[in-house]
Amino acid sequence: MPFTFIVMSQTAIRWHPWRHLRDHHPEVVVSCQHELHATRMGFSRGRRIWLCSTLTQAERRCTLTHELVHVERGPLPEGLVAVRREEAIVNDIATRRLITIEQLVDAFRWHRHGSAEQLAEELWVDVPTFTFRMNALTPIEVAELENRLDGEWTYAC
Ligand SMILES: [Zn+2]
Repeated sequence: MPFTFIVMSQTAIRWHPWRHLRDHHPEVVVSCQHELHATRMGFSRGRRIWLCSTLTQAERRCTLTHELVHVERGPLPEGLVAVRREEAIVNDIATRRLITIEQLVDAFRWHRHGSAEQLAEELWVDVPTFTFRMNALTPIEVAELENRLDGEWTYAC
């Protein structure tokens, strides 16, 4: 019998928004059939989520995650400032689900001096999601990246 060694890295534990939808929000209906306005990748209202029909697979993954966080947090607050603050919170939660620090370490191991496009592709997210996550890194997360990558990584935003 041949010996098979399987390496299960942390990357294998990837966030699956469609699975999360099925397991935790079976009442939510997602529609991907309509092309939305150019400024919108998706939106949600009540128990319904719309994803623009022209999104790439990575964009759909990121947008569904974002909209699921909206569903979980409830309706947007009143007022522009409050809406912007809520969107920032939703983006932070969504991008952390999509990109864990373990996955970020792995991505930088493959592309130590990679572009945002290369790293986003490696992480199976869109570039805005990757960029948001990088800009929201805490000092502890930066220190962890620095330590785990032996200082051998650069990222220019
Ligand atoms: Zn939003």
